[in-house]
Amino acid sequence: MKSLILIGPPGAGKGTQAKKLLEKYGIPQISTGDMLRAAVSAGTALGKQAQPIMASGALVPDDIIIGLIDERLREPDCAKGFLLDGFPRTVPQAEALETLLAEQQVTLDAVLSLDMHIDRIVARLAGRRTCGDCKTVYHVEAMRPRVDDVCDRCGSGLETRGDDTPEAIRVRMQAYQDRTAPLLAYYGQKRLLVRVSAEGTPAEVYERATAVLDRRIRSRSA
Ligand code: ADP
Ligand code: AMP
Repeated sequence: MKSLILIGPPGAGKGTQAKKLLEKYGIPQISTGDMLRAAVSAGTALGKQAQPIMASGALVPDDIIIGLIDERLREPDCAKGFLLDGFPRTVPQAEALETLLAEQQVTLDAVLSLDMHIDRIVARLAGRRTCGDCKTVYHVEAMRPRVDDVCDRCGSGLETRGDDTPEAIRVRMQAYQDRTAPLLAYYGQKRLLVRVSAEGTPAEVYERATAVLDRRIRSRSA
């Protein structure tokens, strides 16, 4: 079983790396952002509550997120492990996760931090384009589709995320600094934190990430 957390500022490339890591480790990606966006698209009560909060760039309340994760971690595909992407994002979320995992007798293997200078984040977020259908993520300069604005995988149109606006990006970066960055010390104290630079191509980041994760997983199973 492999239980991993991906942490990092918005736009560092968590979703991009998660897609590659889940193939390598054979575990499901659990993205609270994707789960919330699916709820918004489906127009559920949760989606209606989360939509204005997400559009503003603020964090959705902890109790809602913890409820979502509690349910998701009980699904059968998590028996072989999981890759948490975008959760936890606050210390209370991390504490709640610890309780949930203890109940299921699961221990975390590693918390991978994708480190990126704040100045570079805006360029990544402002250039992000997502397939409206299959949700594949592109970048207008760094990860271009073969045909502009058309998804390579399914041929649907690409969209700009509603929270990739200058104002929402500012709020999200502030939320990261105030509420998520303290998790680096939290997981550092628990000796679970591994850090890699998120700069360079996606392939370079992947090489760095898997080198440290493989070492960590080997040492924990030794
Ligand atoms: P996060 O999940 O951390 O918010 P994403 O994986 O959605 O970040 O990446 C944000 C944007 O940056 C996307 O447009 C993605 O295509 C692009 N991106 C991701 N990794 C890299 C990279 N190593 N170099 C350049 N652009 C990248
Ligand atoms: P992401 O897709 O991870 O960039 O998340 C998009 C938005 O969803 C965030 O800006 C928040 O509004 C909300 N969100 C996602 N995950 C969390 C979380 N763990 N805690 C609170 N809000 C979240």
